[in-house]
Amino acid sequence: MAFLRSAVRRMVSAVRSPPAPICRTSTRSYSSEPTREKGVPYEKTLKQQDQASTGPSKPLPRSADVVVIGGGSLGCQTIYHLAKMGVTNVVLLERDRLTAGTTWHTAGLLWQLRPSDVEVELLAHTRNVISKDLEEETGLHTGWIQNGGLFIASNKQRLDEYKRLMSLGKVYGIESHVLSPAETKDLYPLMNVDDLYGTLYVPKDGTMDPAGTCTTLTRAASARGATVIENCRVTGIQVRTDDLGVKRVKAVETPHGTIETPCVVNCAGVWATKLGEMAGVKVPLVAMHHAYVVTERIEGIKNMPNVRDHDASVYLRLQGDALSVGGYEHNPIFWDEVSDKFAFSLFDLDWDVFMQHIDGAINRVPVLEQTGIKSTVCGPESFTADHKPLMGEAPEVRGFFLGCGFNSAGMMLGGGCGRELAHWIIHGRPEKDMYGYDIRRFHNSLTDNQRWIRERSHESYSNFGFIQALSPR
Ligand SMILES: Cc1cc2nc3c(=O)[nH]c(=O)nc-3n(C[C@H](O)[C@H](O)[C@H](O)COP(=O)(O)OP(=O)(O)OC[C@H]3O[C@@H](n4cnc5c(N)ncnc54)[C@H](O)[C@@H]3O)c2cc1C
Repeated sequence: MAFLRSAVRRMVSAVRSPPAPICRTSTRSYSSEPTREKGVPYEKTLKQQDQASTGPSKPLPRSADVVVIGGGSLGCQTIYHLAKMGVTNVVLLERDRLTAGTTWHTAGLLWQLRPSDVEVELLAHTRNVISKDLEEETGLHTGWIQNGGLFIASNKQRLDEYKRLMSLGKVYGIESHVLSPAETKDLYPLMNVDDLYGTLYVPKDGTMDPAGTCTTLTRAASARGATVIENCRVTGIQVRTDDLGVKRVKAVETPHGTIETPCVVNCAGVWATKLGEMAGVKVPLVAMHHAYVVTERIEGIKNMPNVRDHDASVYLRLQGDALSVGGYEHNPIFWDEVSDKFAFSLFDLDWDVFMQHIDGAINRVPVLEQTGIKSTVCGPESFTADHKPLMGEAPEVRGFFLGCGFNSAGMMLGGGCGRELAHWIIHGRPEKDMYGYDIRRFHNSLTDNQRWIRERSHESYSNFGFIQALSPR
């Protein structure tokens, strides 16, 4: 069996001569093979049958009050919340099957504490939806696992920040505990605590299941009258100019028909830029590779909390009796040519880039050095210049809403943001102070500057470990 560090070394040297199949660094290629080809942890897909050649899963209506584009975390949460708020003449269009873009391979971590009161509220709502509301409404379990979360502090400054998070959490009733290194060792015996200053333990954090969450959300939305149509690609968005010269959404075009609608929600993930172009709307995000590796079984790891080590910029997610190890690199890989054919697909992992997480992970849980790697998961995710999502009505076209650019937090923010988007569409404004996420925070000259977006997105991705805990945003 290949152990984590030696396996990585072997793979990296294999890349140099000759290239090994799972780590071709030069080609940056992706596979269009289905899930199991790379041993991805989620064995179930939402539907086993290949519908690609069979057309849309339902007939298209002639008109709708709202058309949501994209059946990932954001699209499913948005249609669910719209339906729950009484907008039932609503249609979700997904070009492939639900979750096919980024959502199906998410790590699904949900931390409840962030250094912003609005974000704490958004996260709390997601947690309520997936751990309680959906189950009560549908009788189905979303796959939520409450295994807890542990933030690592290697210095006083970091622990002080966590104490502030704890105080903020108290206002919202979120249970958390500052633990000493010895208490941390009691909780997580496989952890190296020699270099720890302390930790913040949040017992009700946990892990979301993407397939279970999206299936349950769409079931609940459909039960209220919403229509979910898979295998139906949006190919155009018609825009009209009204008597006052204002541009407004008119209809959504697909190869299977046109739906008249005054309102479109762009929840198309890394494809959102293309959907924006169809309506003349700028969507300032970039697509990057984002990855984790799944280890072989680890004795004694079962039921441990998820771990986030901000100083080392790595996370360790519980995966049954194994771990998923991921992080934020200083030199992420951009996906410049976003392909329309990419569905339930992954990229080959670039070990030269991923290697930087190995030392931090092994330092935190030393048994990893002797643990094999079962699979690699490297997929596309969208990032923005300030590491905040893009939401709200586009200034260019009335009725064109954005719900995209989720910077590797679209599962945990999905519920809160889905509810805010629904409120925004129905009432013309969100319920919470969403200025930090509002697309209008970007001035026109910035959204025109692709280089600026790319450079800032790179910077905020690479600094994510620090931004997450230390920034007051
Ligand atoms: C490796 C990795 C780990 C992650 N870990 C976490 C985590 O632990 N916690 C967390 O909160 N987030 C995590 N994320 C991020 C999270 O998974 C994403 O932010 C989220 O899934 C994005 O959801 P979405 O709905 O915006 O996009 P997507 O899931 O990509 O959905 C967009 C959908 O739009 C569809 N579409 C595109 N074009 C069209 C068209 N023309 N017509 C119709 N449909 C179209 C696509 O097929 C796709 O299904 C992770 C991401 C990655 C890559």
